[in-house]
Amino acid sequence: MKKYILQPHIFLLIHILIATCLYTEVYAQQNTKPKQNCSTKTPLVITKYTQEQLNGIERTIDYLYVIRVYVHILRDNDGTNAATTEAQMHIDLQTMTNFFKPHNICFMFVGFEYVNNTFLNNSMNPGLAADEASLLANNKHNDAIDIYVHRSLGDGSGGNSYNIPSDHFSVVQANNFNFYHEMGHCLGLLHTFETSGGTECPDGSNCNNSGDLVCDTQADFGGSENMVTPPNSCIYTGNQTIVCNGSTRSYAPPINNIMSYWAACYTQFTVQQATRMRATIANQNVVNKCLVTLDATLYANSINITILNEFYMAAKSDIRIGAVTPGNTVFIGSGNGKKYINAGNKITIMAGTVIRPASSPTKFFINKLCD
Ligand SMILES: [Zn+2]
Repeated sequence: MKKYILQPHIFLLIHILIATCLYTEVYAQQNTKPKQNCSTKTPLVITKYTQEQLNGIERTIDYLYVIRVYVHILRDNDGTNAATTEAQMHIDLQTMTNFFKPHNICFMFVGFEYVNNTFLNNSMNPGLAADEASLLANNKHNDAIDIYVHRSLGDGSGGNSYNIPSDHFSVVQANNFNFYHEMGHCLGLLHTFETSGGTECPDGSNCNNSGDLVCDTQADFGGSENMVTPPNSCIYTGNQTIVCNGSTRSYAPPINNIMSYWAACYTQFTVQQATRMRATIANQNVVNKCLVTLDATLYANSINITILNEFYMAAKSDIRIGAVTPGNTVFIGSGNGKKYINAGNKITIMAGTVIRPASSPTKFFINKLCD
């Protein structure tokens, strides 16, 4: 057992670049057409924002939102057949982040765990409320978007966000493009081929109130991703038409859009999709509660703080831990849970802090957020 006791009046500034494991950039595969899509169902009530609200959101585009994410990797009952590896999980999280960061939306990893459950790993149906409840019984977090990684899903899909917006989603690792597609749903985005609020006319005349409620994504229709020549390409060769506004009009599907089903061709969210996501983050508590604050402190003043089980702290800038006045202790000790302390710029460990890892580690991350 290692024992770390910090002497009084000594301030340690820790700049650990453990988070460099998050730097690897991997972009969407362009050559292999994924065979499984998302099975997220559109809820009956979809939030529409007024143009005034959206204009206000656009004026704050420079403000960086950072959202906590926690990952659950499913395995079979005996601990085998893990849905992914820790290394691949970090690659997938970074790939996901790369699609959001141009819009000043980033993610802070606050931990992961393995969940041993053969049924949840291989055959749960995300469309069944009972199955979803079984999944969420495994350490669901109230202040983070929980990502569950499965070997396969019982409905044959590659992912599901359970609701729009949502604070959790499932993804089959083999279809890891769904990390960013499902996160799009969590942040309020609809499929580009959505029709629950009305069918979008390709001329753009009703884009505010129909389709995906976003005007800079072209009108799409279900199944457009199957109309490609040559196979496995990103070239739409369908001739689908629709009669609207008194004319027969042709589609030009948004093949590179992450909320389409053209999964092999994903390259972007549009500016107005980003505005809708930022409006969701600002206004919908299910996501807003997951935001990382600028700074965070854990001070043992007049009380002792003992942390034994799973624990995480996250801040966009600085974290400070310890006792401002002498006499009390923050004890981060042995226990079964991993402990992650993740700051954007600086972690200050002050007098009064005792860190004594045993069976599980305490990890400090300096996460450059979007980088
Ligand atoms: Zn979807």
